[in-house]
Amino acid sequence: MENEKDNLMEKITSLAKRRGFIFQGSEIYGGLAGTYDYGPLGVALRNNIKNSWWKKFVDNREDMYGVDASILMNSNVWKATGHIDNFSDPMVECKKCKKRFRTDQIESLSECVECKGELGEEKKFNMMFATQIGAVEDSSSTVYLRPETAQGMFVNFKNVMDSIHPKLPFGLAQIGKAFRNEITPRDFIFRQREFEQMEIEFFLHPNDWEKYFTYWRAEMLEWMESIGLDMNSVYELEVEGADLAHYSSRTIDFEFEFPFGRKELYGLAYRTDFDLQTHAKNSTVDLSYFDDDTKERLIPHVIEPSFGVDRTVLALLVSAYKEEIKGEEARPYLAFSPSIAPVVCAVSPLLKNKPELRDYAHKVYRMLKDEFGRVMWDDNGNIGKRYRRQDEIGTPWCIVIDFDTLGEENPEHKDTVTIRDRDTGTQERIKKDDIIDYIKEKMN
Ligand code: ATP
Repeated sequence: MENEKDNLMEKITSLAKRRGFIFQGSEIYGGLAGTYDYGPLGVALRNNIKNSWWKKFVDNREDMYGVDASILMNSNVWKATGHIDNFSDPMVECKKCKKRFRTDQIESLSECVECKGELGEEKKFNMMFATQIGAVEDSSSTVYLRPETAQGMFVNFKNVMDSIHPKLPFGLAQIGKAFRNEITPRDFIFRQREFEQMEIEFFLHPNDWEKYFTYWRAEMLEWMESIGLDMNSVYELEVEGADLAHYSSRTIDFEFEFPFGRKELYGLAYRTDFDLQTHAKNSTVDLSYFDDDTKERLIPHVIEPSFGVDRTVLALLVSAYKEEIKGEEARPYLAFSPSIAPVVCAVSPLLKNKPELRDYAHKVYRMLKDEFGRVMWDDNGNIGKRYRRQDEIGTPWCIVIDFDTLGEENPEHKDTVTIRDRDTGTQERIKKDDIIDYIKEKMN
C-alpha cells in the first residue's frame, strides 16, 4: 500500500511536469527548495480554481468585498499580531550534516534521520522572511513578506467601512501570495515557501458566531464538491486544546487524504475579536463598528474560512488521477470536472495536411475559443495519440473535423463534427452549430 501511494505521487509529479502543469522553481539552475513554477496548464487550472472561488464567495454574494493588500506591510502589523515573537516552528539541527528538521515532524530526537548524527538543542525558528526596505540598512528598515493574507484585510477594515459602509455581517475576501520559511518544504506543492491563499474574514455580531460558523462550514464543503474534489477523501478535524491557535475559540481543519497522509487542506476558524482589538490597541485607531439600528458600538467578531490555492491544485490532481488499463499498459488520465479543466475542448482536423480540413477546423476552433477561451488546437500525430494526450491533461471533449464534415462522403453529414467524451470514450456526430450548446449543457 505504502509503495502504491509513493508511486502515485511520483506519477502525478511526473505527469505534472511532462504535460506543463508544474515545474521545479528555477530548475535550470538546480532549483530552489520550496518553490514551484506553474506552466501553461497549471496556470489555467489555478485561474479556474481562483475564478470559481471568487465567483461563489464574492461575486455571487451581496455581503462580500474584495481587497488586494500589499505583500510588504508595516512591521508593526506583525509585532501586534505576535508573528514576530511567536510565528515559529520548533526546530533541531543535526550537528554532523547540518540538516534542519521540524521536531514535530520527526519520529525521534535521539539521532538524525538522514546521517544518524547527533541532534542539537531544540530551538524556535521564525518562519517569516525578512528583508530590508529603503537605502539604509538598520533594524528599523526590516520588513517581512506576509506569511498570510489575513492581516491585509484586518488592517483595511476601517478603510472599507469608511468607503463602502457595509452593515454587519459582511466579509472581506482576498487572494494572494504568502511566504513562510518552512524548515522542511516537502510533498511537492503541499508545503512550499511561497504559496497562494484565498481567505475570507467574515465580520459579525458576537452573538451570531455559532450560526455563521455552521453556515461557513457548509459553504466550504459545497465549494469543495463543486470543483470536483473527491469528497470521500475529505475529513473534518475539530482542533482542540494546545493545538488551537491563541487567537481562536474554535477551529475545524478540513483534511485531505493525500498519498503521503491525511493532511490539512483548509481551515475554518472563529478568531473572536482578537485581530481587530489587537490592531485597535497597537495602532491607536478606533476599529469599532456602530450599529445604526440598535445604537450599539462594538468590535466585530470574525469567522475565517481559509483556503490554499496550491493544496487545492494538489488535491484536485490526486482526485482526478485515473488509469485506464489497456493490456499491459496503464494509460493515465485526469478526470477533471469541465468547469475547472485547463482545456474545455480540443479541436483537430482529421488529417494535418489537407487544407480544406484545416481551414474548416480552424474556423470551429476560433468559434469555440471565442466562447470558452480554454480551447486547444491539436493536429499532432494520429487521432488516437491526440485523444490520449488530451485525456492525460483532462480535456473533457475532443472535436474532430473529417471528410464527412465537408459533405464529401455522406451529404447528410455536411457541417457535422464528431465529439468524443473523455470519460466514456464514446463519439457522437453533432451539428457544428450545436457544439456550443452541447458543451454548455454538459458543463452545467
Ligand atoms: P500546516 O499546519 O500544514 O503548516 P497551517 O495550519 O500553518 O498549515 P494556515 O496558517 O491555517 O496553515 O494557512 C491557511 C492555508 O494556507 C492552509 O490551510 C493551506 O491550504 C495553506 N498553506 C499554509 N502553509 C502552506 C505551505 N507552506 N504551502 C502551501 N500551502 C500552505
